[in-house]
Amino acid sequence: MKLPRLLPIDLIITSLCPAQQQPCILFSSGLNRLGIIFRNRTKMPSAKSSYSTSPPPLVKVSSLPPVDSTLVNTDHHVNSPPTAFENPWSSFQKVSLSTIFWTRFGTHPEKNFVPVPEGPNGTRSEELVKVVKPDWGSSNLDSLRATWLGHASFLVETPVLPGCERGLRILFDPVFSERTSPFSFAGPKRYTPTPCTLDELPDVDIVCISHNHYDHLDITTIKALRRRHGAALKFFAPLGNKAWFITNAPCEASEAIECDWWQSNLIEAPGRGTVKLTCCPAQHNSGRSISDHGTTLWSSWALECMTPSPTDQAETQRGKTFFFAGDTAYQSPHCPDPCPVFTQIGNTFGPFDLALLPIGLMTPASFMGSFHATPEQSLQIHQDIKSKLSIGMHYGTVRGGISARYEDVRDPPRRWRVAGEKADVWCGGGVEGGGDARSPEGVGLCHVGETVCV
Ligand SMILES: [Zn+2]
Ligand SMILES: [Zn+2]
Repeated sequence: MKLPRLLPIDLIITSLCPAQQQPCILFSSGLNRLGIIFRNRTKMPSAKSSYSTSPPPLVKVSSLPPVDSTLVNTDHHVNSPPTAFENPWSSFQKVSLSTIFWTRFGTHPEKNFVPVPEGPNGTRSEELVKVVKPDWGSSNLDSLRATWLGHASFLVETPVLPGCERGLRILFDPVFSERTSPFSFAGPKRYTPTPCTLDELPDVDIVCISHNHYDHLDITTIKALRRRHGAALKFFAPLGNKAWFITNAPCEASEAIECDWWQSNLIEAPGRGTVKLTCCPAQHNSGRSISDHGTTLWSSWALECMTPSPTDQAETQRGKTFFFAGDTAYQSPHCPDPCPVFTQIGNTFGPFDLALLPIGLMTPASFMGSFHATPEQSLQIHQDIKSKLSIGMHYGTVRGGISARYEDVRDPPRRWRVAGEKADVWCGGGVEGGGDARSPEGVGLCHVGETVCV
């Protein structure tokens, strides 16, 4: 496609990769060299941690046979070996380039721009998600703990086993930059700060990525984490992402593990814990530039904590279970069926003690429905995967792209609460919680920086 030499940055950013709310790098040939200069240069804190550090354990990763081999197939592969990936279900509807342009620039009937609310004298509005200083769930060490770092970023720590100093720590989709964009000056911008700096983040063992969109894979954050932890840190990502980590973290091939859907790994960190981590399907897409749409896989993740058997300490048994949905749709409008994978995930790994489900950046549903679930649909996912407690995520943090012109930032948590109340599973918490304590089961919310313990 021949492009004008200079396009308005907003058009470049929001028009060609809008489904995911993050920009593509789209350059005319003359601008190509500038791409290197203009990459996101958000200043990050130094990599040295002020949090307590201890010698890195030798994290051992071994691949496991699939839990249910009947689920394993290559329907989502394009070519063999795969050169790209696709959503193979009747719940997905392709979106044309003309629809994307019309949704962004046309007189779409659902357009409804509502500015991010402000409090008096430019203070932060009480209607926005609250940011609290994390304590990482330090008074609930025997629980599985998930601390919200904003948008889809969570730090998850497994229950501390007897004789261990801490649990195994996994960082999901960590993003600390100001913009979810390849540019430091344009693209979706954070209106909610992170609850801590990268310096203040506890040491982690694993970084787990759902897909490569800019609001889930942040080069500046990944580089800082690799610098701080060195070879002790392992990266997990769906197929096709390994090369990115080797080049950009940068790390050795053995430190970046990429998985196809339904592939499981046993992760053993002596003195910290053992988990089974399984790459599960999701209905979404991927891409960081105009030329790489769908060339890397997207996924959700299921985590099973392994604990010593009470009858035989040499044996392990399944402990707390956790599901991270990443970015996913449930059923595109006008499609006949919901995505079947959530029932499969529930039957294979459920019940889950805790699930983190996306509820935002879903408007207009006529277009976004192919890639992002609405709060009402995420309630269905909560039920399909057999989750005991599901917390909404992927809202309340960054704004830009197509949904900025359609979605009031207060809508996702409101609709999540209303849907939960209607189904009689609303458990409270977060900006819609009204100050009451959250019930231990159902669907709810948390504050940025808060730790959910199960
Ligand atoms: Zn995405
Ligand atoms: Zn996203």
